[in-house]
Amino acid sequence: SDLLTDGGTNSSMTVAVRVRPLNKREQADENRCVISMVDNETMVAHPDRSVDEHHRFTYDYSFWSYDREGGEFASQEYVYNTLAQPILAKAFEGYNTCLFAYGQTGSGKSYSMMGHSTEIGIIPRFCEELVDRTETCPDNITDINVEISFFEIYNEKIHDLLCPSAKDKTGKKPNGWLSVGNKHRATAATGMNDKSSRSHSVFTLVMTQTKTEVLDGKRHEHSVTSKINLVDLAGSERQSLAKTSGDRLREGASINKSLHTLGKVISMLSDQSVAARSIINIARVNEDPKARLIRGSGSEDVISASLVEITSLKQKLSEKEREMVEI
Ligand code: ADP
Repeated sequence: SDLLTDGGTNSSMTVAVRVRPLNKREQADENRCVISMVDNETMVAHPDRSVDEHHRFTYDYSFWSYDREGGEFASQEYVYNTLAQPILAKAFEGYNTCLFAYGQTGSGKSYSMMGHSTEIGIIPRFCEELVDRTETCPDNITDINVEISFFEIYNEKIHDLLCPSAKDKTGKKPNGWLSVGNKHRATAATGMNDKSSRSHSVFTLVMTQTKTEVLDGKRHEHSVTSKINLVDLAGSERQSLAKTSGDRLREGASINKSLHTLGKVISMLSDQSVAARSIINIARVNEDPKARLIRGSGSEDVISASLVEITSLKQKLSEKEREMVEI
């Protein structure tokens, strides 16, 4: 793909599905797994229906039996290497990237994104590798600055998980900030009956690389900024309106609205992969006027073609959705 070179499809998006093992309660209830995966096809078997009637879905990746360590389920390392590592590589090339986990509460979103202390997930691995790479970057990169934010969106309000009043604001590496945010998230969740499953948490890294290029014998310094969003979305379960009232009803409406909007934006972007690519191109080209000079005159055509496509894409969206595309 354009964004992820190993995707094999001409799309700027990669979709993977991950199956988690049955938990103790499900095992005690003698539940059985109705999912099977062959290559990138996922099949959901209905116990009362014939094989012909099973639902089949194709994703870029179906993570289950691909664990290279011999286990039945894909390891944290394998999921990270397959999905997140290419995104980190693209971020160093100047792309803006995003990875998010979507699914019902209990399906393994937080496990995949954050993980446990012994089985760390995508976000801490990403931070570790980013720091390693900044320490061993090529000579033409003279400076790398990384800004971090970690917040959650609950009932359409944003809560800063890094606590702006924190005394110790400097000297932490990304994983240090990550644990500060996780502590705040955990504290808020206990007081509010597991609010975390009903809020979106967004970990954002903004990386600015200062690069030196020699062009026509002259040294040029320019900067390339990439934004990486790593998101653990609220549970996607349907909110039963019959059983909810007051705060829960408001929460349900907010979650449904935001997930619905996200779904709409993503399907439009995938329908119009050209427009999606153009948004990425324009983001890169506009990054820095000097970068535009270095990339050459073709950029101007990309800009005008992109503007036409973005305008037509935006016309099809509501005001709220437009705001989201801007983000
Ligand atoms: P969610 O964030 O979607 O609500 P969690 O990540 O909290 O779900 O996962 C629910 C439970 O299942 C947790 O106890 C977690 O440790 C466990 N779990 C999830 N995915 C896996 C996995 N791939 N392997 C082992 N345990 C998992």
